[in-house]
Amino acid sequence: MAEKITSRLLRYGMRFGDAFISIVYPTACRVCGSPVGSLRDGVACANCWEAFDLNRLHDEVCAKCGVSLPGRSGLLIIGSRRCGRCEELAFDLARACGPYQGALKESVLRLKTQPHMPGQLKMRMIAVFRQIEAFHSIDSILPVPLHPKRLAERAFNQSEVIAETLAAETGLPIDRSSLIRIRATRRHRAGMSPLERARSMKNAFHLRAPRLIENRSVLLVDDVMTTGSTAHEIALVLGAGGASKVSVLALARARESFGH
Ligand SMILES: [Zn+2]
Ligand SMILES: [Zn+2]
Repeated sequence: MAEKITSRLLRYGMRFGDAFISIVYPTACRVCGSPVGSLRDGVACANCWEAFDLNRLHDEVCAKCGVSLPGRSGLLIIGSRRCGRCEELAFDLARACGPYQGALKESVLRLKTQPHMPGQLKMRMIAVFRQIEAFHSIDSILPVPLHPKRLAERAFNQSEVIAETLAAETGLPIDRSSLIRIRATRRHRAGMSPLERARSMKNAFHLRAPRLIENRSVLLVDDVMTTGSTAHEIALVLGAGGASKVSVLALARARESFGH
């Protein structure tokens, strides 16, 4: 009987793809291989989430762009220290839930194929949002747009999933219409230099409804931030259109050697 139900569930699951099966069946942690005990953990087990937090406690980040300052440690101190490489970037401030590794990295990767943020991921994003004072005066949330061609390939935009999750929690409006992507940029790959990244983003975005962002403090949301070239290009366009402030909230902050 149990077998019959199992095979029926499997057959049913096939129709909806892997996402359904991973919801019905306990999955192995993508980081350590142990069973994941709860749906709210997503693709990483509770221990790996805890390990991620412990790691993060010793992370001191650049006051502007949020990149980890190597060799420094503190209790996630947002001090006045800067990395020295973000002066030219056009946004005002960027923060992430932590470095692109472990439980966070695996969850971000999963979000590319499954439009859902598990509780553990959501909780960390909301915590960062509440912690950063500059985010408290945000007027609207703006997901990084995908080019229509990419959107057709991917079926959904993971930045919109992040924006929707944040909006549901904060009550802030999502601005989906001001900004469009007019160039289908090559996907950023591991090993691309900061200059190549910056070039590939040049003139990739267009502001079609400046009145929606004029004199507004905008929060750009994305899954991973690496050099900040995407956020920089968008901040230039929004700034030219009259936005009073452009802040960035990414789920993860990658080092330049990682893709994206
Ligand atoms: Zn684990
Ligand atoms: Zn910096």
